[in-house]
Amino acid sequence: MQKKLSIVIVGTIFASFMLSMFYSALSIRNLGIKNAEEKAQIIADLVQDGLSAHMLTGTMDQREFFLNKISQAKGVEALWVVRSDSVIKQFGKGFNNETVRDDIDDKTLKTGLVHQQSEESSHTAKLRISTPYIAKERSNPNCMECHHAKEGEVLGAISIVFDISEIRTNGILTSLSVFVLSLVIMTAVFLVINNSMKPLMELFDSITYVMNKAQEGDYSKRIRFSGSDKECHNVMFWINSLLEKLENTLNDIEVTVKKFLALSPNHQPDLLLDAQAIVHELSDIYQFKRTIEFDEDKEQVYRRIGMILKNDFSLNDFVLVESGKEFFRPQVVFDASTKERNVEMSCRALRTKQSVYSDQFHNICETCDACQHFLCIPYLISNDLELLLSIWARSDEELNQIKAQLPKIQNYIDAARPELVSKNLTQILKVSSTTDALTGLYNRKYLDEYIEKALSQAKRNNIVYGILMIDIDFFKMVNDTYGHDVGDQAIRALSKCLKENIREADTAFRFGGEEFLVLLYECDEAMVQNIAEKIRLAFEKTPIQAPNGTAFYKTLSVGASIFPKNSDSLWKCIKFADIALYKAKESGRNCVKRFDPSMLDEQELKNAF
Ligand code: GH3
Ligand code: MG
Ligand code: MG
Repeated sequence: MQKKLSIVIVGTIFASFMLSMFYSALSIRNLGIKNAEEKAQIIADLVQDGLSAHMLTGTMDQREFFLNKISQAKGVEALWVVRSDSVIKQFGKGFNNETVRDDIDDKTLKTGLVHQQSEESSHTAKLRISTPYIAKERSNPNCMECHHAKEGEVLGAISIVFDISEIRTNGILTSLSVFVLSLVIMTAVFLVINNSMKPLMELFDSITYVMNKAQEGDYSKRIRFSGSDKECHNVMFWINSLLEKLENTLNDIEVTVKKFLALSPNHQPDLLLDAQAIVHELSDIYQFKRTIEFDEDKEQVYRRIGMILKNDFSLNDFVLVESGKEFFRPQVVFDASTKERNVEMSCRALRTKQSVYSDQFHNICETCDACQHFLCIPYLISNDLELLLSIWARSDEELNQIKAQLPKIQNYIDAARPELVSKNLTQILKVSSTTDALTGLYNRKYLDEYIEKALSQAKRNNIVYGILMIDIDFFKMVNDTYGHDVGDQAIRALSKCLKENIREADTAFRFGGEEFLVLLYECDEAMVQNIAEKIRLAFEKTPIQAPNGTAFYKTLSVGASIFPKNSDSLWKCIKFADIALYKAKESGRNCVKRFDPSMLDEQELKNAF
């Protein structure tokens, strides 16, 4: 940079000096020629006047002395007089053959104008000039007195050769001295510029290098400056301090973030861009965390993770699977797969609790032989909850791209973990508080909650419920004969019977000891009877193991009512089913009784409606 600048400055000065030198040499030469011309005119006038005087005084024969004297004047190399043809005719050629000697003489005589020519060689420089001698009647002396000539006729010419070598030499010498002077000035200017620019240039070069490195993401380089200039030192100090702060802050961000955020292995080589990406990611994760805090249940959180994987990570063929303790079948909680995919209990990733990549080994996962490119990553949420992410890719390249995104995905799962754990726990607690431990059916407590929800929906959509109240006949005897444990077994046998004979939309509750309530969703009267009979018959045939190895059988009685036919209050309908059950017991047990208002006595009728 400095070199370039110096060359430009010195070059410009040199060119302008050379130009002025050439111009001054030319001016000096032209001045010399002009000077010689004027001198020639004076000499010509002098010769003309001298010759006229000689003529008038009749001493023309002595003009040689006069001409010799004049030709000795400084710079005059030769001087001669040329006679025109008319003068030669009148007076002869003269004593020294005063005839035309060259072209210039000839032209001057013919045109009556001054003609000149300069002849320059390396050694000499000459100016050859001829001035015409023109006849003038009114001049003093009158030319016509001696010459037979007309007014304006060219009588002759005075030719002079001037030596202008000295003038030329002077010009060259002057130019040379200007040149030498220029060189000296230029060198001085160059040295001054060089010296004053050097520190600036050193600083500039260093800044260029350091900024270039920073642009590439390397903030570790610092500006160096060895000069003594105070301002340059200040600039160096300011920029270096700024770089120092920037580098420390960026490194700090990276180190701090690394503690709780998995950075992808191919993250940006530029610390600044890296920090920007980290801040964006942190902000996204923070937003996600804030959002899921207020989500209703873990299923909603799963859906949100699924949407992020789909929209932000551009995954388009994957499933999220929830898996719990051994008896808990893995179930898909978010499905964005292009084909139907089943996750088996024997899923390798769930079993080994390690990630499974299709490129680890040929046919690594035998449960998925149709999948060519895939990865299954198990995320441990808590001791009894795992989340499995299975992703399918179309090529090895896509698989590798997905792999590169795994650290970021991990960040989201990590952020969701506490919420998933707490929501899972809440769900478990809720289930345990609403289910009966012996049968796994809902308990009476849940019935209150259920009826509240079901009733508003049922009224809005005109849904009909069949209500069955079921009680085992002479159950006390079981306890008395075989003990409480066998009694429990009988209760479990009935709950199993109920589960097997009702639809998914129906709900069974353990109402009391060996008393069960079944709510049959959208069920007409005939169907209510059928299902009750089906349950009765199924239980009748269910063997209950006695401790002595034998099996015994029990029967049950059912009371049924219909909502809203019997009452627009579900609770009342349950009460009516209970009354019907009582009637079934009364009428000999092991039967189904439909509620009928006639089953109520007067007082009960009054209270019922
Ligand atoms: P009924 O035909 O009139 O219904 O005669 P029952 O003997 O079945 O009479 P009841 O329905 O009143 O019997 C209830 C008995 O069920 C009382 C209690 O000892 C027993 N029981 C209640 N809860 C449990 C339980 O959780 N386990 C066991 N083993 N027995 C229970
Ligand atoms: Mg009973
Ligand atoms: Mg009972």
